[in-house]
Amino acid sequence: MALLMVFLVLVERGLPVTRVISRMVLQGILARAVGEDIVLNASNVVNFVDDGNKVTVELENGQKYEGDLLVGADGIWSKVRTQLFGQTEAVYSGYTCYTGIADFVPADIESVGYRVFLGHKQYFVSSDVGAGKMQWYAFHKEAPGGADVPNGKKERLLKIFKGWCDNAVDLILATDEEAILRRDIYDRIPTFNWGKGRVTLLGDSVHAMQPNMGQGGCMAIEDSYQLASELDNAWEQSIKSRSPIKVDSALRSYENERKLRVAVIHGMARMAALMASTYKAYLGVGLGPLEFLTNFRIPHPGRVGGRFFVDILMPSMLNWILGGNSDKLEGRPLSCRISDKANGQLRQWFEDDDALERAINGEWFLLPCGDQTGLSKPIRLTQNEMKPFIIGSAVQDDQGSSITIDSPEVSPTHARIYYKDGAFFVTDMRSEHGTWIVDIEGKRYRVPPNYPARVRPFDVLVFGSDKVSFRVKVKSAAPSISKKEEETQVLQGV
Ligand SMILES: Cc1cc2nc3c(=O)[nH]c(=O)nc-3n(C[C@H](O)[C@H](O)[C@H](O)COP(=O)(O)OP(=O)(O)OC[C@H]3O[C@@H](n4cnc5c(N)ncnc54)[C@H](O)[C@@H]3O)c2cc1C
Repeated sequence: MALLMVFLVLVERGLPVTRVISRMVLQGILARAVGEDIVLNASNVVNFVDDGNKVTVELENGQKYEGDLLVGADGIWSKVRTQLFGQTEAVYSGYTCYTGIADFVPADIESVGYRVFLGHKQYFVSSDVGAGKMQWYAFHKEAPGGADVPNGKKERLLKIFKGWCDNAVDLILATDEEAILRRDIYDRIPTFNWGKGRVTLLGDSVHAMQPNMGQGGCMAIEDSYQLASELDNAWEQSIKSRSPIKVDSALRSYENERKLRVAVIHGMARMAALMASTYKAYLGVGLGPLEFLTNFRIPHPGRVGGRFFVDILMPSMLNWILGGNSDKLEGRPLSCRISDKANGQLRQWFEDDDALERAINGEWFLLPCGDQTGLSKPIRLTQNEMKPFIIGSAVQDDQGSSITIDSPEVSPTHARIYYKDGAFFVTDMRSEHGTWIVDIEGKRYRVPPNYPARVRPFDVLVFGSDKVSFRVKVKSAAPSISKKEEETQVLQGV
């Protein structure tokens, strides 16, 4: 949903549509833009001296460098900030975060690029970062400082997120162990002290925030833009007035321009983190002895309130976050390219989950999960309205459009699955033991005889007995799904 709103806001403002970019790709672009020989890696600053005319930094290896100013962009554990203002404690969010990147193309990539899955004391975020890759973040509430056994991250995540929908689990499965990183999430209380003399701070060194709005890096980039603009102005001023460039005042102007906006977004990120981490789907979740209440599936009041917030307040909030400082964007080309993606369906998708589901451009499969199906491979369902798929114990296999299952609970002609108007349906053909659907939430209901029931991704279809059941899975029609990932998906379904 978040991505859809981002689209809306950008379209309204006539701005280019935001795409999420992998941090490594972005770093590569930036490094090439400044010249890779200018960036010195493994150069940890351990000390600096500001004598009023220049700043001298000392590196770990004893080397010294002089410059007109020093920008401490050295992250949340900044040495520069500590030397400027003393040691302060970072605040632990209560969550550790595993992150990974995988070669994986979800079936609905054309319509949804960013997703947040909420659970009790854990949540999962996935994002399309382009080039057939998905980046994901798995948050889990626990004490800081935890460590995993060697090669144990993936296994632990699969345990933590066991039973979650395929969108989350498939991504974990498709990620190599070495591509999974873990870090505890901290932020820092906003401060009004950003610099002194010829030294200033930028990014996480001065405003580390929780990652829930995806704004930490964005704010660091905005900082850089503002800093460059203030220094440019100071330079022009000095040329005009034929006087030395006023570095200190340029740095103070930069800080003043940034402080308020960053503090507000820091607060919003905390609020978003609170919403994500206190989410409870149903009344009874986390209530110990009253946990049985979840069986009634009464939506938790917080969920209802959260929905209201997302519908009513979030668009204007995002408007401000994404469009902030908009007067500075004047004169930019209006290169909004909404037409290549969401088009006029945007608002409809935002409000109508069914329309979003019908827009999925994927291939539908039945993955055998009961032990009496007699099958080990997934069955592909054809999106052909003229060609229904028949399931029974005595059906003729007509060019792959039927399947014979030798089980006492399966009737000779048991059920029919067919495609119509972008959706699949199952009809029970008056079978003796019935056809059942178990939906994503575990609700089980019987398909009435001769009456079509909608089939949704993640449903389990049961023909006569749980031993003859299949999980519905939609996979991307894009060819870039790797062989390995395809194998893991089949395994996952069995
Ligand atoms: C799980 C997670 C998800 C996130 N998702 C997003 C997102 O979707 N969008 C977004 O915009 N932001 C996101 N962020 C936030 C983003 O990662 C940070 O805000 C951003 O990296 C801050 O950039 P920075 O340059 O200030 O600091 P950092 O990226 O931390 O870089 C600091 C650099 O300084 C170096 N350094 C440290 N000490 C020294 C020293 N003494 N001398 C010299 N160099 C030093 C470090 O090696 C590092 O290279 C996320 C953060 C997390 C934890």
